[in-house]
Amino acid sequence: MNLDLKNKIAVITGGSVGIGLAVAKALAQEGVHLAICARDEERLQAVTRDIEKEYGVKVIGVKADVSKAPDIDHFAAVIAEHFEKVDILINNAGTGSSEKIMDAPDEKWYYYWDLHVMAAIRTAKTIVPLMKKNGGVIINSASIAATQPMWYEPIYNVTKIALVMLSKCLANELITHHIRVNSISPGLILTPDWVKTAKILSPEKNISWEEYLDQVAKENNPLGRFASPEELANFYVFLCSSRADFCIGSNYYVDGGQLKVIL
Ligand code: NDP
Repeated sequence: MNLDLKNKIAVITGGSVGIGLAVAKALAQEGVHLAICARDEERLQAVTRDIEKEYGVKVIGVKADVSKAPDIDHFAAVIAEHFEKVDILINNAGTGSSEKIMDAPDEKWYYYWDLHVMAAIRTAKTIVPLMKKNGGVIINSASIAATQPMWYEPIYNVTKIALVMLSKCLANELITHHIRVNSISPGLILTPDWVKTAKILSPEKNISWEEYLDQVAKENNPLGRFASPEELANFYVFLCSSRADFCIGSNYYVDGGQLKVIL
């Protein structure tokens, strides 16, 4: 299938590891130039150099914490210096949480609201102007937990379902500018974020973090396994391409059959 993505420009938040990195590499393989951001600058710049070298595309890496409005403004300004337009925006930066609603302080709710919801609003406001001439694609990384909540992370579940609704509303607003907005809700994808979660929760069960991940896979997924970030990235690439031009305002599950209902 010719995806017709060569020389497109993609912006990916949280592109230095895990799902964001796999999507960055999969797009680079199609000839897409990239602007990626993350907080850990050393890792970000190393990844930037690696992708440029391996795929021969232009990649800029900008240190930014997308939970902070000034960092998003700075990221967008650097993008505008390097590229004349943007074709694809992927709001991917995010992380799991662990709390009880009765104990969690307000500040924690506000942090995740900024990270998962306001970040997507702020990147839309700063980057859509770079898209408006030629149209574009926005994909927001939501989660199966937005629909089928994970017991230990209510703040994550709530902010991710808000992101799904934001995606729908933004799709309605931007469709006349030929900008397609969708969200993707992955199931279990084996990334450093899951290793972090397993290291926090495994001591409660008196098992190793590797055993914890194995249990999570067997208890939650009918295939009994996690997907790799690369398996998931294939779907992102398709949705970015003009082959998916009629895909607008939806939330797509890529979950190995984990969702227990039809939506
Ligand atoms: P990882 O923790 O593996 O990677 C997260 C990426 O985002 C890193 O590049 C990280 O870099 C960056 N990041 C995190 N916080 C910020 C921030 N405040 N500002 C800028 N960059 C940030 O996560 P995953 O790859 O697992 O997850 C990616 C997305 O997919 C998340 O939104 C997650 O909720 C979602 N998701 C993941 C699933 C999974 O099973 N893994 C399932 C469903 C959804 P740095 O730390 O340097 O900032």
